[in-house]
Amino acid sequence: MEDIRVCPTHGFYRGENCACGYRGELILDKERVERLGRFISGVLRHFPDKFRLEVDENGWVSFEALARVVRRKYRWANQWLIKAMVYTDKKNRYELKNGRIRARYGHSIKVKLSDYPPAEEDVLYYGTGEEEAHRLLEIGIKPVNQTFVHLSASIEKSREVARLRTDEPIILEIDAKSARKNGVRIIKANKFIALAEEVPPEYIRLV
Ligand SMILES: [Zn+2]
Repeated sequence: MEDIRVCPTHGFYRGENCACGYRGELILDKERVERLGRFISGVLRHFPDKFRLEVDENGWVSFEALARVVRRKYRWANQWLIKAMVYTDKKNRYELKNGRIRARYGHSIKVKLSDYPPAEEDVLYYGTGEEEAHRLLEIGIKPVNQTFVHLSASIEKSREVARLRTDEPIILEIDAKSARKNGVRIIKANKFIALAEEVPPEYIRLV
């Protein structure tokens, strides 16, 4: 995690220096970035009800209402700092538009995300452990703790994700083109991640 600073010319950025070389004023140190991010993604993905936040079927929450919830927990936070965190997030976890905010992926709450475009990739990837890989080849991939199955746009990304759970990831290749053609809904969360309600086994093979 990096500090967030603000450049008078280019706005918020993460790290020491702005791309222009200027060292802007520190507005959020890395510890606060981490705490703020963990709390906001938790609220948007898993427990909006705990704070009586109303979420629509596409995961949208009023930005003002969220900011009030955040401020009750962290007195130092405000809308400007939340925006700084959201706009500089390198994993593109959030979307902030028309006074509303949502998580782009990672939900365990029931959302439909019916306003997402279809994923463009012909091939997507899913990394997992060896034992699990063989099971998935037989039964397909279904969400476990999350609402959607998360697929990666590149082998490298899928390996990175799988390494969090296993030392030697096995990469599965998803024939997203055929799956989509046959009515499997695969949507684009951001440029690294696609989401599917499930992936039937006929579209999965070992890399
Ligand atoms: Zn700059």
